[in-house]
Formats: sequence, C-alpha cells, structure tokens
Amino acid sequence: MQTLIKPIDESSLIEAAKIINEGGIVGMPTETVYGLAGSGLNPLAVKNIFAVKGRPSDNPLICHVHKDFDIESLVYIRYDYVKKLIEAFTPGPLTLVMESKGVVCREAVCGGETLAVRIPAHTGCQKFLKAVNLPIVAPSANLSKHTSPVTAQHVYEDLNGKIPLILDGGKCSGGIESTVLDVTGEVPRILRAGLITKEMIIKVVGDCQVAMHREGDKVKSPGVKYKHYRPKCETALFESEDIEGVKRAYKEALDSGKVPYVMCANSYVEAFKGMNLLLLGSTEEEIASNLYDKLLEGEKKASIIIAVAMPNELGVNMGIMNRLKKSCG
Ligand code: AMP
Ligand code: MG
Repeated sequence: MQTLIKPIDESSLIEAAKIINEGGIVGMPTETVYGLAGSGLNPLAVKNIFAVKGRPSDNPLICHVHKDFDIESLVYIRYDYVKKLIEAFTPGPLTLVMESKGVVCREAVCGGETLAVRIPAHTGCQKFLKAVNLPIVAPSANLSKHTSPVTAQHVYEDLNGKIPLILDGGKCSGGIESTVLDVTGEVPRILRAGLITKEMIIKVVGDCQVAMHREGDKVKSPGVKYKHYRPKCETALFESEDIEGVKRAYKEALDSGKVPYVMCANSYVEAFKGMNLLLLGSTEEEIASNLYDKLLEGEKKASIIIAVAMPNELGVNMGIMNRLKKSCG
C-alpha cells in the first residue's frame, strides 16, 4: 500500500472521510501528537489500529470527537465538576475517562466499562472530525513503544506502507500526549500527566489526585505500565544538577567510539559548551513541545542520547518527566 501525505483541504477531507466510513484508518494531526484514526463504531477498524501499531491488546483507545458532538450520547457524566472541566479545558489536551454507554465498540475499550473522550483543539483535526461526524478512536500514530510522532513525516517513517493517508496539519504545538483524567469518582484523578496540569485542574475543581503506579498494582490506565516513547538509540537520564555526571557519560561515550548528544533545556548551553546538543527550549511549554521532535532527531544522529531531567515535577514538568523517564530512563 502506498502512503500519501496530504495537506488538509476539501479534497483530502473527503478522501479521509471515505476511508474512515469504509472501515479504514488514517493518520491525523492533533495539538498533542499525531493519531492513528479509525471509526469507534467499527470493530474491524479498531482491530486494524492495534495490528498496525503492534499495540498490546489490553490498552484501550481514546475516543476523539468534534466540539459540537453530543458527548452524552457516548458516556454518562456523573458529577457536576466534569462539566466545569469540559467548559474550562475543551477543546484542548484533556482526556476524560467516564462510564461508557457502550456505543463505541468493546474492541476499542478492550472490554472495559469506561471510555476516554477527548475534544482536540487542532483546527485541521476539528475539520476532519466534523467531516466524519463519528466517534474517532485513535492512539498515537507510531509503532508501539517508539517515540510518538509530532509531524506527518514522523508518522510516515513508522507507518509507511501500512496506511493509505496521513493528513498533514504541521508540527504539533503541544508535543506530549493529553492529560488522562479519571472522572468516574467524586475527585478527579490524573492517570497520565500532560499539558493540563494538576494545578490547573485544582483551580477549577478544588481538588485533584494523581494515580500512583507501583510494581504489582492493578493498573487503572493500562497504557502507563508499558515501556514507551523509546528512541531507537541508547539513552541515559541524569538529574538536572548533575552537570559533572553528564560530562563524564559524554566523555565515556566518546572514548568508546559512540556519538553522544546531550538533550537539555537551553539554560545548559554554557555548561555543555563544545558538546553535541539537542536543545529543547526555555519554557516548560517549549520543552514539552520539542521533546519528541528532538528524541526523533537524536535517534538519527546519535548513538546515545544523554538526557537532563527537569528540576522538579511541578506543573507541566510532571508530564515532561513522565515521558523522559520512560523514553530515556
Ligand atoms: P495513547 O493513545 O497511545 O496516547 O494512549 C492512550 C492512553 O489513555 C493510555 O495510557 C491508555 O491506557 C489510556 N486510556 C484510554 N482509554 C482509557 C480508559 N477507558 N480508562 C483508562 N485509561 C484509558
Ligand atoms: Mg502512544
């Protein structure tokens, strides 16, 4: 199968909608990462998504809808605070896990009772979702365990020959996956950290928990237990203040004939002068936005990426550190 990358316009939207309506799957942009989209009403499309990615069969998919879609046709909203969250953060990078009404097929939710719903803010994605007017299930459009794609080209590099069409919506502005929030209880609970932070949720709702995942725990969001986001080269992760450790690892890599690159915030430019760098930017938002792009650039030119951690896990840093530990830790 030939995989085409097309800009989002009237003709590519008609083509994408036709593919989806016939049970096929396409690459779609969102403001977080690119998704691999199929109809949530079609078990064969869903099975194809899992097969193309090599995704573990117990990891449910997020359902994406346009901003005028009636979410309550898909899920039960049990608490008033959920409406406040929808009002405050959608369209945007927040995924809400709610009790499913069973409209989206059981293959997409791996037989579970809940459905994760998101309304992406990306303009091109909204146009696509409007054009199909269906609940669209989509995981990130990468091979399972590999770094998530933030450009149409990244999707192409992982899935060329496996899907007919990638809608090109430019580089994703957010850069890390949505915050996944369990809203089936009295207090919202973060299952996966992202750009909508714990602090932002507390401002709207008054309270927010963070799910802890320990070895052997029954995992509420299966996706968080897997090795994830890995670039194809060796990696190492150092504490934010461990400049000497980074320099030592860099030298050891050079001495053993490897090509090392240090991936870090712009504030380290002086400290790592003369070394190969993958610079992530200055603000937390910039760093999140560039993280996967730099990992995917790094895997092409480095034999080892030596990553420097964020100084804390507050705000957006919680999401960045979650991805850094899995990709480089
Ligand atoms: P991905 O689409 O690859 O970014 O992963 C989606 C994430 O959302 C994974 O961590 C899933 O485990 C999680 N997820 C999707 N649906 C549900 C659900 N119904 N309940 C809990 N977590 C979910
Ligand atoms: Mg993913």
